[in-house]
Amino acid sequence: MIKYNLKCKNKHEFESWFLDSLEFEKLLKRKMIECVFCRTKSIKKSIMSPRVSNKKEINQPSKEIRKMKKDLLKLRKFVEKNFDYVGKNFPTEVRKVYYDKKGNKNIYGTTTPKEAEDLKDEGIELTTIPWINLKEN
Ligand SMILES: [Zn+2]
Repeated sequence: MIKYNLKCKNKHEFESWFLDSLEFEKLLKRKMIECVFCRTKSIKKSIMSPRVSNKKEINQPSKEIRKMKKDLLKLRKFVEKNFDYVGKNFPTEVRKVYYDKKGNKNIYGTTTPKEAEDLKDEGIELTTIPWINLKEN
């Protein structure tokens, strides 16, 4: 079975099923297909609008996204190399650095939004960077 989008001379559009394209041609020639709306037998196959899927786009990130990922990965590697990871102790550790002025210790870790807010209230500005998963790419 094959489905065609059909259009009559009065621009009515409708769909119809046929056994195959040959049968369609045969019925059309014999004027056995009529418009479901106005019963005219002047029918044409209408061009189907192509379906556009975004799936491909998602699976294949654009150049810009790939470049951005690369840059974020570079940033992550830079941080891992030059900063000490303190994990969830970050708020405590960052206060130590900030209040004790123990040199220029570079640390990174995680905070909850509440902890980040508290630190900001204390005048400790944090930089949040998008942490890209190394497994991607
Ligand atoms: Zn019609």
